[in-house]
Amino acid sequence: MNSDNDIIVASLSEASIMEHLEEIKDPEIPVLSIVDLGIVRSVQFTGSSEEEKGIEIAITSTYTGCPAMDMIAAEIRLLLQTLGFKKITVTQQLSPAWTTDWMSEAGKQRLQAYGIAPPEKRFSIPADGVICPQCGSSNTKLLSEFSSTACKALYQCSDCKEPFDYFKCH
Ligand SMILES: [Zn+2]
Repeated sequence: MNSDNDIIVASLSEASIMEHLEEIKDPEIPVLSIVDLGIVRSVQFTGSSEEEKGIEIAITSTYTGCPAMDMIAAEIRLLLQTLGFKKITVTQQLSPAWTTDWMSEAGKQRLQAYGIAPPEKRFSIPADGVICPQCGSSNTKLLSEFSSTACKALYQCSDCKEPFDYFKCH
């Protein structure tokens, strides 16, 4: 017996799955989707026929042991269930390791607009010179390598005096 959901599943392409995944935000940075962050590595349909169409999503953690990943995986499952998939596999891909280079340009711009300085280079926590997301000054100083989460470093702007987070994950 066919349900409406079976029809939806049959008509979905891998690209449209990615669009749906845009709805899932990073729990730490709610303006960024998991697609913006580059966490979603691949979307693959499984099963030999349309009726048995399953789906496999590979995700990579932004940093080792990120506790948010279990939550993200659960949200992906829930979303795919809503779309009508019954066979859902979410795998965590460990290599190659995630780098901030995987973040989309749109994601970096949204991060800046949210008040967090986007990553500039891989594997670096600059001592100064990070652009202040509040006033645009580069007259800034590192206050702490760890801010509210392990993913962010804390800086202060010497011009507008505002402290701000820098997204440093790699
Ligand atoms: Zn400033």
